[in-house]
Amino acid sequence: MEQRRVEITLNPIIPANLATTLEKKNKWIMEFTRKIGQDMKHNRNWRCEFCNKHARETVWMKASWMHLDPPRMVCYVHHVCDSGTGLCADKIRSVDAEMRAHSNLPPAPLLHVAPPEGYVYPMSATCAVCNDEANKSRKNLKQCARCGLTRYCSVECQHSDWKRHKQCCKAVKKVEWHWKK
Ligand SMILES: [Zn+2]
Ligand SMILES: [Zn+2]
Ligand SMILES: [Zn+2]
Repeated sequence: MEQRRVEITLNPIIPANLATTLEKKNKWIMEFTRKIGQDMKHNRNWRCEFCNKHARETVWMKASWMHLDPPRMVCYVHHVCDSGTGLCADKIRSVDAEMRAHSNLPPAPLLHVAPPEGYVYPMSATCAVCNDEANKSRKNLKQCARCGLTRYCSVECQHSDWKRHKQCCKAVKKVEWHWKK
């Protein structure tokens, strides 16, 4: 199967008053990671790396060097159809376990946030703002010209998102796409 992934190097800019201790920096980076989920998820038309269905969930494996100035973080974002139950969920769990063993980390359960009853996570192949799943909208997505990541269906959606997106946008240092058959 084709292997696809993107490695995103970020140099997050932490406000000076929140970067006084390593603990504060770590807290900030956790919050930052939560905020940029949208950007990481919608940067392409990702399909589940195991079954090829449209991806609706992401699983993050990340490494950070918070003691550096500026701090540096690399995110490995896995796109899957469902990380909670089923064959693909089992597979992503074994990838995670392998990665942890490789980095000498103790085994830990994969973080899975179950959607509320009746809610379906939006596809990765949609606009980062309106998540319009119609073909017409998905075919016309444009990437943010600055970071080359976050995708929008229209100028309106892009403008409405700038206040949120700019923090991620300015932190992006390098985007590497890996395509391997
Ligand atoms: Zn799948
Ligand atoms: Zn939109
Ligand atoms: Zn951007």
